Order: sequence, then C-alpha cells, then structure tokens
Amino acid sequence: MKILCAVKRVVDYNVKIRVKTDQTGVETANVKFSMNPFDEIAVEEAVRLKESGAATEIVVVAVGPTAAQETLRTALAMGADRAILVQTDLETQPLGVAKALKAIVAKEAPGLVIVGKQAIDDDCNQTGQMLAALLGWGQGAFASKIAAANGELTVTREVDGGMETIALPLPAVVTADLRLNEPRYATLPNIMKAKKKPLEIVAPDALGVDLTPRLTVLKVEEPPTRSAGVKVPDVATLVAKLKNEAKVIP
Ligand code: AMP
Repeated sequence: MKILCAVKRVVDYNVKIRVKTDQTGVETANVKFSMNPFDEIAVEEAVRLKESGAATEIVVVAVGPTAAQETLRTALAMGADRAILVQTDLETQPLGVAKALKAIVAKEAPGLVIVGKQAIDDDCNQTGQMLAALLGWGQGAFASKIAAANGELTVTREVDGGMETIALPLPAVVTADLRLNEPRYATLPNIMKAKKKPLEIVAPDALGVDLTPRLTVLKVEEPPTRSAGVKVPDVATLVAKLKNEAKVIP
C-alpha cells in the first residue's frame, strides 16, 4: 500500500506571532518556518506503518512556495520516499489544497492519505474532510490510533468526552491528532540521505487546479490584553463580586 501525506510549511510553533500593523495578517518576514506539527505526526505514522510492513511507499506533498521544499526534505529525512511540490506563491486555502491533493491522488493512487488535523497558521481543520468528500472516500478525522489489516483501517478518534473506534474500507483519508504518536527527529545521516531522494515540482495548472483563494481575510487582530486581577479578603467578597460584578453566578 502506498501512503500519501500532506505537509504544510507554517510559521514555527515557537515563534511569538506578531500581527502586521495594517492588520492584513501576521508578520512572516524574518520568521522561522517549519513543518506543521500535526503533519510531522502524519508523516511519523506513515513511517511506522511502513516499518510494520503495512505500507510499501510514502509520498509527501506540499502546496506552497519554493521554500516548501525544505519542509518536504524534512519529511524525506523522517523516512518518506518521494516528495511532490505543487508550487504556488498564492496563499493556500483548504479547498484549493484539497483539489490539488485530489489531483495527486488520481496520479499516485495511494491506499491511504494522512494529513494533519489542522494547520497551526490558519487553524482551518478542513482540508482532510474536504479531500475525503471530493474523493468520495471514508474519513477518520482526529485519529489517535490507527491499525491497518485486511484492506481495512481501524481508527480510534478523539471525540468530545471520549474515544470512538471506527472501521474504514481503504482507500481512506485520516487526519492526525496530537496523541497519535511522538514524531522522531531526523538524524544527520538521514538528512544527508534525504537530499538525494526524488522531489518533483509540478505547477497547479498541470494538475488542472485553480488555487486562487476563495476567501478574503478582512482583518486580523491581537487577542485583547487581559486586565489585571484583584485580591479579595475573603470568600464572601469573592462570591459578591462573582454575583454583582462578573455576573457569572445568580
Ligand atoms: P487546515 O485544513 O488548513 O487546517 O489543514 C489541515 C491539514 O491539511 C494540514 O495539517 C496539512 O496536512 C494539510 N494541508 C493544508 N494546507 C496545506 C498545504 N498548503 N500544503 C500541504 N498540506 C496542506
């Protein structure tokens, strides 16, 4: 079975995000970029499935600028076999990315697609779901455990208040949640080996996909700063304040 993983280049999760002064977005100049953390989990799971004998090849795909090649190389160093960059300088949005992934699925015919549950830059949590719908495939979103056997996939999903276990016929789309695994670090020898692995660059036009954004961001704002707290002398004052000032208890 071939596995396709989507990896997005995003602002590194350690970076303190600054909103641009004109409120059109967040500052990306001179900022560190890395692989979206949920995509590291997706790639790790694919590598583990390959190591267990359940998969034979892992293809990683990024939709983004030339610099997204670095993200793909990281995935190759973690254990993916081949990479494809759908190159665009446009801002990518879930529907466009899902259409590009659908076109790659048509070429590659994977048995399983694993994407992250959400990209930490746009927080959309839509691409995997949209891809499954476009393909007409089943989906296991927010997976915290995956097992493949006899052409079927068992996925344990994190749902409100508990876990749900579902069986999916393959091919299917899975989105990786935080507790699925702990991704490995790429070792130096593997980083060196990754430089020689194949990385194909395709234009969206060649896939017949239009990546023009369908949504316009009107405004981005910092969250409001929290006002300072006060110390209360006793429980009675606290209850009175909760009742009369905060109005959170009747
Ligand atoms: P989102 O729907 O934007 O929150 O993204 C969910 C997942 O879709 C991400 O974790 C990635 O696996 C995948 N994805 C989204 N955008 C891209 C992109 N530009 N390139 C590759 N994968 C992407």
